[in-house]
Amino acid sequence: MTDRPWKLGIDLGGTKILAAVIGPDNAILSRAKKKTKVELGAEAVLERIAQTAEEALQLASGSAEAIACAGIGAPGPLDPETGVVLEAPNLQWKEVALTAWLSERLGIPSYLSNDVNAGTWGEYVLGAGQGSRSCIGVFVGTGIGGGLVINGQLYDGASHIAGEIGHMCLDPNGPVCGCGRRGCLEAFASRTAMTRDLLNESKKRDREIPEVIEKGQLIRSKEFRKKLSAGDPSYVRVFEGATECLGRGLASVTNLLNPDCIILGGGVVEALGSAYVDRVREVLAAHAFPTAVGALRLVPAALGDDAGVLGAALLAQMQHERRPRREPASVS
Ligand SMILES: [Zn+2]
Repeated sequence: MTDRPWKLGIDLGGTKILAAVIGPDNAILSRAKKKTKVELGAEAVLERIAQTAEEALQLASGSAEAIACAGIGAPGPLDPETGVVLEAPNLQWKEVALTAWLSERLGIPSYLSNDVNAGTWGEYVLGAGQGSRSCIGVFVGTGIGGGLVINGQLYDGASHIAGEIGHMCLDPNGPVCGCGRRGCLEAFASRTAMTRDLLNESKKRDREIPEVIEKGQLIRSKEFRKKLSAGDPSYVRVFEGATECLGRGLASVTNLLNPDCIILGGGVVEALGSAYVDRVREVLAAHAFPTAVGALRLVPAALGDDAGVLGAALLAQMQHERRPRREPASVS
């Protein structure tokens, strides 16, 4: 409908909530951001989501009447059909009917997607994946998330959980992963794993333990970049180990799916830049079938934080346009 020309995109994470108002040409008209504050409980977080959305609307000098639909990307497992977040450990949520609440509260029909799928779809349509047919998004941060676009369609599998690249097993005797299993890619190449390896390297080489790690926090990606560029041998070893594992993991993915594009995004990739992407590409090329490697473009993400809000809004628009017309809309 032309009288509702805008879309709303929301990205719900464990630490921050992002919202953006998106114009008919998919340009971002305004952005708003709030801390999630998980510790306040689900009801308070829901209210903060609505407030972030309203702030974005105000900044765009618009109201709910201008918005055709809202899309929210959230950590899963979740059900995009019912709009329920089934379980999200980093939000401490179980069975939260997110879109029913949001549709009612904002007066805007709202749709749910997995946050990594939303980021991948945003990059596929508007970012680094433009022009590709089968595209895989891999986001490296405290964990490693993956999203799959196969032949131009988002692929989320039989129960909406496809794309869990981070939990591909590289070594059954490897380090314990956050999921409880051993040797997952995430347990070798996430920022959490890099922090653990850095601590071990520092102890082994009898070097000073980085201050943040001493405080029990994860190494910051920017600090890692500084030490790596300065040639600190502990950081170089950890970098080589992490990129080796990611490259080998993505070689398996390349052999399995033969994509024409893999996008690397997330905080670690943004901070370490082309050195990281080039090294992953080199390892991948050494371990995947040459025919598959020849067809593949491995590129850094282009949209940063905007990928999640854009992707969530675009996926919502598709769901909104597909909805059964005869049934009453969830919001009158
Ligand atoms: Zn795992």
